[in-house]
Amino acid sequence: RSKARGSGNYTFFTPEMANALVRQSRIEANLRNAINQGQFILYYQPLFDIKTGKVIKAEALIRWNHPELGLVSPNEFIPLAEDTKLIIPIGKWVLRTAIKEAKKWHINGYPIKISINISSIQFQQNNCAQIIQEFLDEAKLDPQYLELEITERVALANPDSIIRKLNKLRSLGVQIAIDDFGTGYSSLSYLKKYPVQSVKIDRSFIQDITTSTCDRNMLEAMLIMAKNLDYSTVAEGVETSEQLSLLTQMGCDVAQGYLFSKPLPDDHFFDFLRRMLEKKESQLASYG
Ligand code: C2E
Ligand code: MG
Ligand code: MG
Ligand code: MG
Repeated sequence: RSKARGSGNYTFFTPEMANALVRQSRIEANLRNAINQGQFILYYQPLFDIKTGKVIKAEALIRWNHPELGLVSPNEFIPLAEDTKLIIPIGKWVLRTAIKEAKKWHINGYPIKISINISSIQFQQNNCAQIIQEFLDEAKLDPQYLELEITERVALANPDSIIRKLNKLRSLGVQIAIDDFGTGYSSLSYLKKYPVQSVKIDRSFIQDITTSTCDRNMLEAMLIMAKNLDYSTVAEGVETSEQLSLLTQMGCDVAQGYLFSKPLPDDHFFDFLRRMLEKKESQLASYG
């Protein structure tokens, strides 16, 4: 039992807290070996072009298949991987695996883009562009089909050096997206200097658009401004057909979310793609 500072209240060390600590120490202890042991897997989630109703890209999302804990979410281990710099080999594995998978889709007649999340640590490595180039060459994937997602917070942290790095990546022919847009307190006009092609509006801004006029207005303002700057706009976390129809009315370009599909393991995603691309009518029709 420990006395909380000043307040005269007591905080207790609960069994939940003990479990959380045990879990965290297991995660820490095993992360280093997880790559060699082949315990990471990539899931893929489709993104739909709202106008044509077609799947145009997929985001690669990592999971850790932990021997005792089962599937561990990236929210739980990516921060730790960043602290320990293990994100560098993990990030390389993600790039290489996802780029190869995209090539497989292409070979099978599904020429969609692959979006890959890049951590700030990876991004700061001097050889980041070189590594990406190597993996593109290795898989023989046309660079225009690769999109790198960097979070808005990273983009804002060190603008000049970030812009230089982004330009270097752009010169490879890859696309850049700002992820979790709206959570970093920047304005779109600020991002104008960045060589960015699309902005992914964070789920928290989409969540309540059908019930909150304020949220709807805010989203509308973001979309208008993004359009003026010539960015493709992506709505993250679309869960209901009501949200989709509002986004359609507001002119949002691309939608991603559980309404269409949760992230899927590679074989399931491949089946999903096949089913979608066999449809003659809008692939979105069934979700409206
Ligand atoms: P993110 O890049 O913003 O990815 C979107 C997250 O939202 C994913 O969570 C996805 O599963 C989830 N999501 C998608 N649609 C919906 C929806 O309709 N409703 C709800 N509630 N959630 C939805 P996930 O897969 O757990 O990934 C969490 C975060 O971990 C990602 O956020 C990204 O920042 C990070 N991450 C994932 N994979 C990687 C990776 O390979 N490398 C790095 N550096 N970070 C990664
Ligand atoms: Mg992302
Ligand atoms: Mg995101
Ligand atoms: Mg997000």
